[in-house]
Amino acid sequence: MSTLLDQFGRNIEYLRISVTDRCNFRCRYCMPLEGLPWLPKSDILSYEEIRDVVAQLAPMGLRRIRLTGGEPTIRPQIETLVRMVRDVPGVEDIALSTNGVKLPELAGRLADAGLDRVNISADSLQADRIVAIARRNLGFDPIVAAGAAQAAGLAPIKLNVVVMRGVNDDEVVDFARLTLEHPWHIRFIELMPVGALEPLTDDHVVPSDEVLARISHALGALASDAGPARGNGPAAYYRLPNAAGSIGVITPMTHTYCGSCNRVRLTADGRLRTCLFGDHEVDLRGPLRAGTPLAPFVRQALAEKPEAHALLSRRVGGLRALSQVGG
Ligand code: SAM
Ligand code: SF4
Repeated sequence: MSTLLDQFGRNIEYLRISVTDRCNFRCRYCMPLEGLPWLPKSDILSYEEIRDVVAQLAPMGLRRIRLTGGEPTIRPQIETLVRMVRDVPGVEDIALSTNGVKLPELAGRLADAGLDRVNISADSLQADRIVAIARRNLGFDPIVAAGAAQAAGLAPIKLNVVVMRGVNDDEVVDFARLTLEHPWHIRFIELMPVGALEPLTDDHVVPSDEVLARISHALGALASDAGPARGNGPAAYYRLPNAAGSIGVITPMTHTYCGSCNRVRLTADGRLRTCLFGDHEVDLRGPLRAGTPLAPFVRQALAEKPEAHALLSRRVGGLRALSQVGG
């Protein structure tokens, strides 16, 4: 079986595919209220083109796919893409990152098409707060969305909470309590200096150690846990006594996991980005549309994959300066 190694010997087997740059939310930490200069439709890879990229990378060592965005579920018939990617030999795991708004409607169709699992963004359990953070009132209810995913047989189910001091950090214990009853994996993410952060600053960053301390103070000792059997990426996992689910922390701002990074990103317009937080990239759309094999372009990109992301040099405390950079 082929493996795809980068210049530091990391085995690249995981591709995040942005299927659209658009979104039905405007999360305060991610997207400006007025939206972004959206890509023209002709620049966006068709489902057939995305499938072709996956089909060329799979024999090179690609094993795992995540569909993301923007918001992937707003692209029409997203389950069609799931089915097409599922049919590519060598693809072992297909996950979806979603804000969850359309999951009650789509979860069953996605599971039938071959989706394995789902990550749902859920920054609050309070309806008014969800609207204040997402800046759109679409009736999103994280419990309903996760329940729909579970009923459809998607597993594991992960809920991602971006923790912001003074915005939603008073809910970390409420989120953790969900794991007592539900077999869900609640993951607390440190706010990162990416996206359109205004008016968030470094004062809003809550280090994950503080999140864990608050949870164990309120609910009891946390034991280290292996986490979900599948899709165990950069999170460190813990479990409350007798809990059905686990608690994870993703700590891009206080700890590094670049040394074991196994992932690259395909942008909606067909550029292969070798670091989720950097701008190292090669265009795959041009060669793809010209009928030129992609392998040499992929190898060139991996030869330039950075050793660590640039956020590390800024860490907590540099957020205010970076927020002016935007992007
Ligand atoms: N729209 C989908 C969603 O919200 O899950 C997929 C795309 S979204 C960009 C992917 C993940 O990035 C979400 O879990 C979101 O919370 C996270 N994210 C976006 N901006 C972030 C930031 N500034 N800091 C930390 N996480 C962020
Ligand atoms: Fe949309 Fe996801 Fe960004 Fe929120 S985090 S604005 S749901 S892409």
